[in-house]
Amino acid sequence: MTGLYIHIPFCQSRCIYCDFVSSTLGAEWQARYIQALEREMQERRQENGPALARTIYIGGGTPSQLSPQNLSALFEIIKQNFSFSSEAEFTLEANPDDITPAFIKLLRQSPVNRISMGIQSTDNRTLRFLRRRHTAEQALQAISLLQEAGFHNLSGDLIYGLPGQTAEMFEKDLDTLLDTGIPHLSAYALQYEPGTALYRMMEKGDIPPEDEELSLRCYRLLIDRTAARGMQHYEISNFALPGMHSRHNSSYWQGLPYLGIGAGAHSYDGQRTRRANTADIQAYISGKARPEEEVLTDDERYDERVMLGLRTCQGIDLERLEADFGSHMLRHLMRHARPYTDSGRLKKAGEQLVLTREGLFISDAIISALLAD
Ligand code: SF4
Repeated sequence: MTGLYIHIPFCQSRCIYCDFVSSTLGAEWQARYIQALEREMQERRQENGPALARTIYIGGGTPSQLSPQNLSALFEIIKQNFSFSSEAEFTLEANPDDITPAFIKLLRQSPVNRISMGIQSTDNRTLRFLRRRHTAEQALQAISLLQEAGFHNLSGDLIYGLPGQTAEMFEKDLDTLLDTGIPHLSAYALQYEPGTALYRMMEKGDIPPEDEELSLRCYRLLIDRTAARGMQHYEISNFALPGMHSRHNSSYWQGLPYLGIGAGAHSYDGQRTRRANTADIQAYISGKARPEEEVLTDDERYDERVMLGLRTCQGIDLERLEADFGSHMLRHLMRHARPYTDSGRLKKAGEQLVLTREGLFISDAIISALLAD
């Protein structure tokens, strides 16, 4: 049983904040890329035997940019190389302006049952600044088209902490998006990643540095507004109505195995071995670049358990941590957790160690204090 991730690294244009593996390579590369995906799927099948996919996630890039022929071919090779039940969560990432009646018709004939859309903002000036391709109206229209067609398992992404944004503007983004009735929201503080257009703008002094105060105000709003709508804050940046959390992403946070197919995709065997495919799209297509493997040390596995556990509302399972890493590591964890449990930023709930609401605001600092020496 594995979580299957397939990466589609094509976008029509680049957003200014993006450091994902994606490119604006033309349509002629898409069919060659799908062939390369098929080759990798067959190789993995030969290596590991037939795999049962617990969840499937097609991300990018912009998977909805694939032509209907290439998207249909992709669904076909997934079916040929993996088995999955009709109940399996099958997510496709889409850009709002790709959601047309024709696209929805294609989706209805496919195994996709969950759509994740990069909305990012409901303010057109902000969307233009980010160089998103769509408008706020197109995003809302895409949601209602999908809902009318019977797709209710929808997720929207928002970004906050943007230059020129105020907490009130973000509040409006949140309310507008939540008013649509979508059951899942992912929201991220804007990061200026080196190598992006945004980072260069900051270096040239065209925009101010990241505004942590604003991000914190937006994050508080996010937690309060989603809670008022009955959403569970089940991961640092993710919120869902009961039963509507992302099963695929949750399995990453639980440390379950996953298989990543495509340029820049990562895999994990659920124990010690990680594998990373080349992020060079043309080298991936040529098949010449072999994946890089990394075997995690005990300390790296422990660190990962702490980082992933504290991201989620379940927190770190202390019994499991002791069983896997020994009582000396449990003592290490609890010794370093003490200042935060005393100040009410971490709490022990039964055998789980969990961030409190106040702890969420300084989660990075808490996590780094708890890592192995
Ligand atoms: S659509 Fe997504 S992957 Fe493509 S450039 Fe924008 S943020 Fe990056």
